This record gives sequence, C-alpha cells and structure tokens, in this order.
Amino acid sequence: FSAIGEEREIDREEFTPGLEPQPTWCPGCGDFGVLKALKQALPEVGRTPDETMLVTGIGCSGKLNSYLDSYGFHTIHGRSLPVARAAKLANPGLEVIAAGGDGDGYGIGGNHFMHTARENHDMTYIVFNNEIFGLTKGQTSPTSPKGHKSKTQPHGSAKEPLRPLSLSLTSGASYVARTAAVNPNQAKEILIEAMNHDGFAHVDFLTQCPTWNKDARQYVPYIDVQDSDDYDFDPTDRREAAEMMHETEDALHEGKVLTGRFYVDEERPSYQQEKQNIGEMPEEPLAARYFDEDYEWE
Ligand code: SF4
Repeated sequence: FSAIGEEREIDREEFTPGLEPQPTWCPGCGDFGVLKALKQALPEVGRTPDETMLVTGIGCSGKLNSYLDSYGFHTIHGRSLPVARAAKLANPGLEVIAAGGDGDGYGIGGNHFMHTARENHDMTYIVFNNEIFGLTKGQTSPTSPKGHKSKTQPHGSAKEPLRPLSLSLTSGASYVARTAAVNPNQAKEILIEAMNHDGFAHVDFLTQCPTWNKDARQYVPYIDVQDSDDYDFDPTDRREAAEMMHETEDALHEGKVLTGRFYVDEERPSYQQEKQNIGEMPEEPLAARYFDEDYEWE
C-alpha cells in the first residue's frame, strides 16, 4: 500500500532505473519522446516512483517499463487496461498509467478501451499511435491509413482507419487529447493535465516508426489547436468537441497534424466515486485492509 509521501522536490532522474538498460528502440523512434515527456511530467504532478504504477501491453511501447523506474506490470497483448483498473481500485493512492500501441490498445484491447472509457476509471491511458504494428515488423494496424501497403496488405489496406479520438469520446472518456513525440513541450503539458484529471484521461500520442512506417508522416509540421487562430471550439462542449475530433482525424489522413486538448469534462465522477456514492466501495483504499491487522473481514 503506497502512502503519499511528504512534499519534497522530485528529480526526474529518480525515474531512471538504477541498473539502466540501454533502450532497444530504433534510432529516431517516437517512443523516446513518450519516455522523456513522462519523466518530465511525473515530478510536476508531485509523484515519486513508489507512488506510480505503469501498466503496459505488448509491443515496442511495452518496453517502457524497463526504462521508467516505478511499479510496473507488463501484461499480455491488449490487456493493460483491466490490470490498471484493478490496481487503481485496490490502491487509489497510486498514480496509475496504462500504455500500449495502437494495435495493442485499439485492436486487440479495443473492447477494454471502450469500457474503461465508459466507466471513467481514474487513470491516464497513453496510446503510442504510429499507425503500424512495430514490434512484429510492420503489419497494418487499426490506425493505418486506407491504401497503406504492408506485408499483410501488399496491395494497400482496403480498410478505413479507426478514429481513436471520436471512439474515446463516444465511449465516455472524460479527457481526450492528442499530442506528438515531435512536440515535447506540449506532450509534457498534456501528460500533466491527464494525470491531474480525475477520471479516464486518454492521450493519443503520435509516435513515428521510422523502421516500418517509412512512408508515413513524421507528424510535422503539427498545429496546436489551442494556439491556432484557425480553430475555435469549446473542449468542454461535447458536440463541439465531437465536430473538432472529426475534422482532426480527417486532417491527419490528408497530411495535416492537429494536436491539443479535444475534450475535457471535469464534472463527471470517476468510477470509484460512483461506487462510493452508491455505498459499494469504502472510502479507504481496499489495499489498506490487507495491511491492517485489526481489520475484521466479514
Ligand atoms: Fe520504434 Fe518502430 Fe523501432 Fe518499434 S520498430 S522501436 S516502433 S521505430
């Protein structure tokens, strides 16, 4: 059971493992950008490694556990979210982060994604979206653009890509953002917001894969929709957010990279709060009971 530590300055290097393995990500991989942004964001939200739980799926993104010093759980393909949910419900004191690729999260784990968003579990979910299966050597993924050629679709994909932002909103996520590894300052700020958000915060993180997706965009130039005069919408308004997401996902496949906060609902209670409201969950963390010798189990 992790207790929240006393207030102190936290150095981002605390998140670098003592026995530092050299990342085996390819040179130029966008995954480096996620690691860097996370190491910068966690101290800013006041979290130490022993207050942080990182749950990953299978893929190049899953190696993140080896390079970030925190509690960690490298799950099976597509199953990071159920494990992360259980960890958060057992110990709400933890900062729970789930991470995986677009194949892992939007394909194999797509059902978990919808229902974790629907139930608004309090966690941050980072999807490394490189529009390809990277670790297994370049197969078409759910976000690969129509016409994308790969070993599994040599004549080009005949499928429309999934729209992760719209799916997230429709499913019920209370924070939805997109950032890119090529935009480290925005990535850090978005991760800080996502971790401070009380509810399911979904960050679609565009991560270039120069090894297997050579023809794909490197996600530059990008436009921050909050900084641009060309976009005017209210991210707290569900309908306006939905329209902006639709435009954003069309734009990506036309070569225009729009990033930023697309939906923010600070009013909706998290799953844990809902359970407490109906008396199904105690106020104190469930895990605390296991460490309380005097607790009387019913
Ligand atoms: Fe990154 Fe692609 Fe290499 Fe995997 S295969 S480490 S996603 S560049």
